[in-house]
Amino acid sequence: MQLIDGKALANRIHEKVGKEVDELKQVRNIVPGLAVILVGDDPASHAYVKMKAKACEKVGFYSITHSMPDTISQDEIIATIEMMNNNPRIDGILVQLPLPRHIDANRILEVIDPRKDVDGFHPFNVGKLTAGLDGFVPCTPLGVMHMLEAYGIDPKGMDVCVVGASNIVGKPMASLLLNANATVTITHIFTKDLKAHTSKADMVIVGVGVPGLIKEDMVKEGAIVIDIGINRLESGALVGDVDFANVSKKCSYITPVPGGVGPMTIAMLLDNTLKSAKKR
Ligand code: NAD
Repeated sequence: MQLIDGKALANRIHEKVGKEVDELKQVRNIVPGLAVILVGDDPASHAYVKMKAKACEKVGFYSITHSMPDTISQDEIIATIEMMNNNPRIDGILVQLPLPRHIDANRILEVIDPRKDVDGFHPFNVGKLTAGLDGFVPCTPLGVMHMLEAYGIDPKGMDVCVVGASNIVGKPMASLLLNANATVTITHIFTKDLKAHTSKADMVIVGVGVPGLIKEDMVKEGAIVIDIGINRLESGALVGDVDFANVSKKCSYITPVPGGVGPMTIAMLLDNTLKSAKKR
């Protein structure tokens, strides 16, 4: 079994992005800029935004966080996004999800200029991904594809089972794999027999939010297992959706939690923002 080290890979991407930022500053006087919109006081969202701001600082980006109370109106959020759409220093706009219930997240995401949509959630970029065209791709599934490539794993022709079908994780993951010529099965909460699908797959990619959902008897010998889940247990420990201790014995490759897909998500956010800045 080989462990896929997302942290080490993410650090290498941070270094590469940092060098390109220096070059961009010197040659074109451009400093990539990221604006983050954070609504409410969800502790996990605050922690993610802090990590993103720190990563921006590390690679030399300009970054601003617009923190808003959860009593804010939808129109006020839209006005802030429009301001960022028109701000020439900003190359990427990110709205930290989830948003409070009285806000229509789909409406908010549609307001972001697709050219600054570094999270890849705007319908324009979703369509591009589905059609296999160049656009912004959601950071988490994009990070998974980078990990596979870095470890010489080509999904072409593989039977891949994606567990979880959200717009930010499972669906874009499935599109990327299909574009890479894998045979993809997408499963979710209403799937009748999850094990029947996962146990046939050459690769299982899970992003659900249920600790230990994927057990040893659900994967075949030598399978590749990618764990996107992030769950905080009552003990305070951070775990994924895979029963790592037992599943890892059967795998050819597996990602740990923490230190797997998580750090790659932030690395891809930096890479997407840099890509946008280069198009200024
Ligand atoms: P979500 O709640 O929007 O979607 C969950 C998906 O899992 C749904 O499609 C649902 O049908 C499916 N599901 C739920 N229970 C299931 C079950 N028992 N069997 C099969 N499918 C089931 O969640 P999300 O935003 O997609 O996040 C999923 C997980 O990924 C969470 O743990 C989240 O923290 C994590 N996540 C990690 C990163 C990262 O950077 N590593 C980024 C985003 C999300």
